[in-house]
Amino acid sequence: MEPLRRSRRRFLQTTAGGLVVSASLASADTIASEDVASTRVANPVSGDVLRSAGVLSEDKQHFMQLQRVVPVAGQADVLVCGGGPAGIAAALAAARTGVSVQLIEVAGCLGGVWTSGLLTKILDSENKSGIMAELLGEFTARGSAIAAQTNGSVYDPEIAKIVLEELCIEAGVAIRLHTRLVGAVTDENNRVVAVLTESKSGREAWLAERFVDCSGDGDLAAHAGCKFDVGTGKDCECQPMSMLALLTGINPDEVKPFIRETGSEAKRRMLKLLEDNGVKPSYRAPTLRHLHSGIYSIMTNHEYGISAFDADAITAATIRARREIHAIVNALRKIGGVWSNLSVVATAEQIGVREGRRIRGRYSITSRDVANGLRHEQAVCRVTFPIDVHALNDLGNKEIERKFKTDGHEPYDVPYPALVANDVDGLLMAGRCISGDFIAHSSYRVTGNAVPMGEAAGLAAAVSFKKNLLPHQLDWREIKRESEIESP
Ligand SMILES: Cc1cc2nc3c(=O)[nH]c(=O)nc-3n(C[C@H](O)[C@H](O)[C@H](O)COP(=O)(O)OP(=O)(O)OC[C@H]3O[C@@H](n4cnc5c(N)ncnc54)[C@H](O)[C@@H]3O)c2cc1C
Repeated sequence: MEPLRRSRRRFLQTTAGGLVVSASLASADTIASEDVASTRVANPVSGDVLRSAGVLSEDKQHFMQLQRVVPVAGQADVLVCGGGPAGIAAALAAARTGVSVQLIEVAGCLGGVWTSGLLTKILDSENKSGIMAELLGEFTARGSAIAAQTNGSVYDPEIAKIVLEELCIEAGVAIRLHTRLVGAVTDENNRVVAVLTESKSGREAWLAERFVDCSGDGDLAAHAGCKFDVGTGKDCECQPMSMLALLTGINPDEVKPFIRETGSEAKRRMLKLLEDNGVKPSYRAPTLRHLHSGIYSIMTNHEYGISAFDADAITAATIRARREIHAIVNALRKIGGVWSNLSVVATAEQIGVREGRRIRGRYSITSRDVANGLRHEQAVCRVTFPIDVHALNDLGNKEIERKFKTDGHEPYDVPYPALVANDVDGLLMAGRCISGDFIAHSSYRVTGNAVPMGEAAGLAAAVSFKKNLLPHQLDWREIKRESEIESP
């Protein structure tokens, strides 16, 4: 038991569930397995697992798992949770400074909403340099004529998958796919020192010197004990979720008026076509894009009132959204003519989640900052994308909540302190989980901003580690200076 006692001293707090269990009932079998389970480490190569030991509450509403050994699977200078647009940029930026980087991703590919979500369009990337410009260059060079015409901002998700894997491998990022972060551990100084994950390899612990939460939903920060905000109002109302899909079987010249890249009128034409044929899509701005050689993407549904933290609700929304996509495609096919061979190539494995937790940072971007066009001395990037709150419910079946736009919008800066967690040390955030209010989030959340935020957070994590300072003890201008000195 000595190793357990030692680790208890080092790891003061772990949030792996926090159940309160009353007087307990346990089967003899469960108790008997406790000793074995608490000291043994499973060998995943052979398919071995640890048996769960614990006690069931009398009312059978809670199961209290008993203490068990969790193997340390890896140790890195910087650990990034989530391999979406923000996460891959954070991992690349950190690894390119020469520190060791562990990237943990629950999906079977990198890219987040770009790939698992089948997004196909990068917004607000035109004014960005660094990794965002590099990725647009790669998507253009390896993509179709349409990717070239749009400077890589309309991209093929399969190209994105391979580009992101290759760049991360080349930079020396250690990638772990199929692995979900489920806990975080802070030490006696309130500094994040480890995270816990679950995968086919069982429960594992990962140690690092600096952490970057790019999970979109702020999972790492929440588990570490950070305060956060969700949605708007007392009911935490959030923007709807949407599932994207890839289609084929139509001729781009024949459906040109409906293709988004020909102008915003295309969405209205598509809506009219659907409504004229008896279909009311739950998203009233159906967006069809031609990606390459007769492959299209479509976004045409809204799932309202779904919490990003309610797996049952997300499951139901996923099933409903997929059904709606197939129903819409079937309806279009029934029109006949140019639509008669339309079919679904793939629906996204991951329904698109617009909003999760907004983790409290050392600066919080507000609607005032958006309205006034904030200029900040520690700007990591400038957002030009407007306020974009999709309808919060289906009342009136609106696509956008225009009432949130009343304060106006000017291009504004994302300050570095908005990426630094306020309530624990050693943790940065990037992407849609950074610190900001509901309105500001609706604008900075798009991926052309997630990437430079990730790049900044990754760089800050690496530089702060090398300088033996915590991220909040550094100014963004100093971080930039340091990184430029190192790579002239
Ligand atoms: C339907 C929809 C349409 C959109 N349209 C556009 C658009 O056209 N253009 C645009 O630029 N933006 C668009 N956005 C916004 C944009 O996609 C997101 O805000 C953006 O993805 C933010 O990037 P991110 O890296 O923070 O998050 P994500 O892309 O969500 O990436 C988070 C990553 O973390 C992983 N992850 C999550 N939790 C865990 C965990 N516990 N353990 C391990 N891994 C985890 C996820 O699998 C994912 O890979 C859209 C969003 C949605 C939902």
